[in-house]
Amino acid sequence: MDTHIAYISVGSNLGDKLGYCRRGVEALAADGRVRILAQSRVYRTEPVDYTDQDWFINRVIKIETDLGPLPLLARLQAVQQALGRTAPAVRFGPRVLDLDILLYDRLVFEDPRLSIPHPRMHARRFVLTPLCDIDPDVVHPILGKAARTLLLELGGEGQEVVEYRCSG
Ligand code: AMP
Repeated sequence: MDTHIAYISVGSNLGDKLGYCRRGVEALAADGRVRILAQSRVYRTEPVDYTDQDWFINRVIKIETDLGPLPLLARLQAVQQALGRTAPAVRFGPRVLDLDILLYDRLVFEDPRLSIPHPRMHARRFVLTPLCDIDPDVVHPILGKAARTLLLELGGEGQEVVEYRCSG
């Protein structure tokens, strides 16, 4: 079977944020098409883009899957809905669970429904910090730079990211 490696950003800023993140990852692995290979530490992160909202809990997971990019997106959206996510009232606004595809092998994919690499991943500390926990050498296939380099190149202002101490 043809398998692929992908990195998924997992985030929540409503209710039991850590619980939503954990249940989201469990649900993703439940049908046997997605295997969790690694999980980053958990972080409390300052909201970006739409800042008038609570801080997020974020982590990144590394998965192995036989799903293609669009079926994987459909799977992530099904999990988000199963955990009670409705369409947010504002773009980038509060959500119980956000699952985004960051990288999928070294694929560059552009479709109205899906962009890979995720178009904002290289500018987001809440993505790059946990990604570097797992694989600092993974290369952004468009920018040709390792995750650790992208993180070093980020400006210092805003985007606070603080490790959240929990038992996994
Ligand atoms: P968000 O509200 O941030 O979860 O954005 C969800 C929308 O972004 C969905 O309608 C997806 O079709 C679209 N999208 C585009 N690229 C990606 C990606 N790499 N991962 C997840 N969703 C994506």
